[in-house]
Amino acid sequence: MTQSLASNLCEACDSLPATVNEPCDDEARPYRLCADCQHRLVQRSLRPMEWYRLALHHCPHNFSLHDDFYLDDGTADQPKEELVDADLFPAPSLSDKAANLNDLWEFTITRHSLNEAIYEAWKRHPQALVLDMLTRNYEASKNAHWKSTVLELVSNCLGAGAAELVRRAWLDYPECMHFGALAKASVACLPTEEGFSRCFAVFKQLPLKEQRSRMMYMYDFKNAQMLDWIEAHIQPPVTNHWGDLASQSGMTWQRVVKWLESGRPMSLVALDSLNGVARAAENGRWKMHIPIQGLPHKNEVEHRLRAYEATDAAPAIQYSIDCILKRFHLLGPQSELAV
Ligand SMILES: [Zn+2]
Repeated sequence: MTQSLASNLCEACDSLPATVNEPCDDEARPYRLCADCQHRLVQRSLRPMEWYRLALHHCPHNFSLHDDFYLDDGTADQPKEELVDADLFPAPSLSDKAANLNDLWEFTITRHSLNEAIYEAWKRHPQALVLDMLTRNYEASKNAHWKSTVLELVSNCLGAGAAELVRRAWLDYPECMHFGALAKASVACLPTEEGFSRCFAVFKQLPLKEQRSRMMYMYDFKNAQMLDWIEAHIQPPVTNHWGDLASQSGMTWQRVVKWLESGRPMSLVALDSLNGVARAAENGRWKMHIPIQGLPHKNEVEHRLRAYEATDAAPAIQYSIDCILKRFHLLGPQSELAV
């Protein structure tokens, strides 16, 4: 598969000489194509195997190759002209590539997104071989897609066995690694406190605008330090991100009362957090359901919420409180079968 990189063959069809450098997606690293394949690339009408080779040599997230234009099997989904002999050039499937680790890596990096079937294929190989190969692939390229793919695989397939590789990847932040990929890998592969410390140290240095879009990556640590951080940094507009983060970070009833008594904006976060805890149970997302600690009897909860409602009678507040009381039974520890 790497033959055309070293030869002068077209990177898409791998049969005709490359006569064109096509810079449409990456001026620094243009596609090297024959005239026919360049035409099909521009017309969004590559055959599946041609799409596969370009995704492999470049990146499936490149604009001309991305999933608005091609399905997972490389079929052109929005061609600007009629497809020619597409069925004669099928792309390989997962089952074609799953038996050999090198083939499986090739297949994996052509994917727009990874899924359980791909993780299962990786898990069928010995963990030591997988770790060795992914470590070498991580180091082999500065390509951000390669590196983030390695982290996604170790997060889902290796866990704690890949801790050293994840520590290595932190050295590439922020130049070559995204915060989100590192946060997920840290949750999956590092000791709990180390993972949280590394992420929180970076998170709290970000501008608030960037923190808002990255709060979701802090959910999985389920760490009460995020509640202190919310108290210190809350700023309007109070979007649901704040309450969702609180609902995942180990809210206590004592803290709910404190936030309600302090009024807006913390009272809004308190209500959102209660609704977030109930919603996680209601939707069966058990990993995300962190019960309210120290939850009192429903009468006490209702008394506190109605007392707050008397000071803040906005219709949205009333609706939020009604929703919480209706789902009071979902705020505490749950037996999954009972819900
Ligand atoms: Zn070609």
